[in-house]
Amino acid sequence: MKKLDIKQVVDNNLCHSCGACVPICHVNAISFLQNNIGQYLPSIDYDICTICCTLCYKVCPGININEKSVEYLSNLNDPFLGDTFNTLIGRANDPEIFHNAQSGGLVTQTLIYLMKKKEIRGALVVQGISIDDKYTTNAYIATTPDEIINSQHSKYIPTNLLVIAKKIEKLDYPIAVVGLSCHIHGLDNLINKNNRLIKNLKSNIKYKFGLICDGLFTYAAIDYFENKSKITKIYDLIFRDKHNNNYIDAYTNIKGRTNNYLLKNNHRFQLKEIIKPPRCRICFDKMNIFADISFGDPWGIEGYDKKLGDSLIITRNKKGNHLIDKMLKDGAITAKIVSYSEAVNGQKINFKKSEVLHFTEAYKSLGFKIPFVNEMIIKENNININANNKFKAQKYISTFLELNKKDRKKIIKYIEKKISFNLIRNKIKYIINKLLRIIYEKH
Ligand SMILES: Cc1cc2nc3c(=O)[nH]c(=O)nc-3n(C[C@H](O)[C@H](O)[C@H](O)COP(=O)(O)OP(=O)(O)OC[C@H]3O[C@@H](n4cnc5c(N)ncnc54)[C@H](O)[C@@H]3O)c2cc1C
Ligand code: SF4
Ligand code: SF4
Ligand code: SF4
Repeated sequence: MKKLDIKQVVDNNLCHSCGACVPICHVNAISFLQNNIGQYLPSIDYDICTICCTLCYKVCPGININEKSVEYLSNLNDPFLGDTFNTLIGRANDPEIFHNAQSGGLVTQTLIYLMKKKEIRGALVVQGISIDDKYTTNAYIATTPDEIINSQHSKYIPTNLLVIAKKIEKLDYPIAVVGLSCHIHGLDNLINKNNRLIKNLKSNIKYKFGLICDGLFTYAAIDYFENKSKITKIYDLIFRDKHNNNYIDAYTNIKGRTNNYLLKNNHRFQLKEIIKPPRCRICFDKMNIFADISFGDPWGIEGYDKKLGDSLIITRNKKGNHLIDKMLKDGAITAKIVSYSEAVNGQKINFKKSEVLHFTEAYKSLGFKIPFVNEMIIKENNININANNKFKAQKYISTFLELNKKDRKKIIKYIEKKISFNLIRNKIKYIINKLLRIIYEKH
């Protein structure tokens, strides 16, 4: 019989690198490594893991979310949308925070507000750093406003945020956690397990702040950026820099120690088409519904600042709603109420539903396991499967897995070729359409 541990999760392409398996392992047998295509995946040292306690598998949100969350989901009208109190768009009133932010700076302003009010003394955030001259991310507990500001901007590469859950457990003060939905699922699984290794986790986490997430790139993106910019040692990286071009079509700002290089946003879109991990394509929780507050970009909402950006704020429960009210009253943020359905349309949730359903079917037909929650969602959504879309999903997964068998250099060459081809093709399409429109208007 196969051992029930996270190797099964990794082998079934279900790992999203959240890191929850690490703190639950009582013998420290799990470590992380990049594979060829640049996923960041856990692997077990079987010389150390000799009894196979199965705990890592049981807390793994890649395969399952806990019973409490499943029950919550089963009472929702639509698991893709979750519950809401209020939806707002707004921005941080502190000019430094707003200037340095990915969107409107609401995440950072909220953390610093809570710190100043002494409701929290730290925040689990993600910083971009250069280790051995390779750009990577680092999850850490920031304890000063400056450290929180240093973590601003979205990092679109895997981050095993929860590997430091044991550190949080040992703190003698409360913190807030900022995470993608896969991080929040992992955190909830860990809390729900109530294991002796992490028994204080729940009481040390005062707030859960979620980022809306449509997926990320593998680490191959970093090599792509290095090659494009000819900056071999990336010192800092702003994946979407609203100060270069504008908020909507923000360029990627690749920084070396002495120079920088700006890459047009269409390269990022292409990277997403090629190296977004298949696991992200079966992730139902784009809107981060289990957080106290979800934050994102106000896409599709009337009147947002298209040059410098704003934040989308979705309060999910009383606690989150009360906090936003207090920040408004205290003048820490400026925000106005908008409609949730407008936000959901702007996030293209119908497209996401179709992607999740077709990729889930593709996973099954390729012989991979799927998370229980996907089984549940498919039944509830009752959407017809389109054979062509399912075939495309199968092809995507197979190409991704085949690519992973090549070495990194060959993978990057493939990505470069494909992106150049697609960009030229898109340009030709654009010119033809423009010409056709001119001809049509003349007649
Ligand atoms: C991978 C990814 C995909 C996203 N996809 C969407 C999307 O499809 N639609 C949408 O509306 N918004 C998306 N977002 C959210 C959006 O990019 C902003 O993060 C959000 O609007 C908050 O902006 P802010 O100005 O308030 O944040 P800032 O003040 O700039 O602070 C950013 C915060 O995000 C945290 N953070 C950054 N990267 C990560 C990471 N990889 N994992 C965990 N925490 C991180 C930092 O620790 C920091 O606390 C995505 C974010 C990420 C990281
Ligand atoms: S099965 Fe148990 S001992 Fe083995 S890696 Fe998983 S948590 Fe650790
Ligand atoms: S717990 Fe997270 S990092 Fe570990 S195998 Fe599961 S999804 Fe991957
Ligand atoms: S799409 Fe889902 S699984 Fe992928 S990074 Fe985002 S939250 Fe995690």
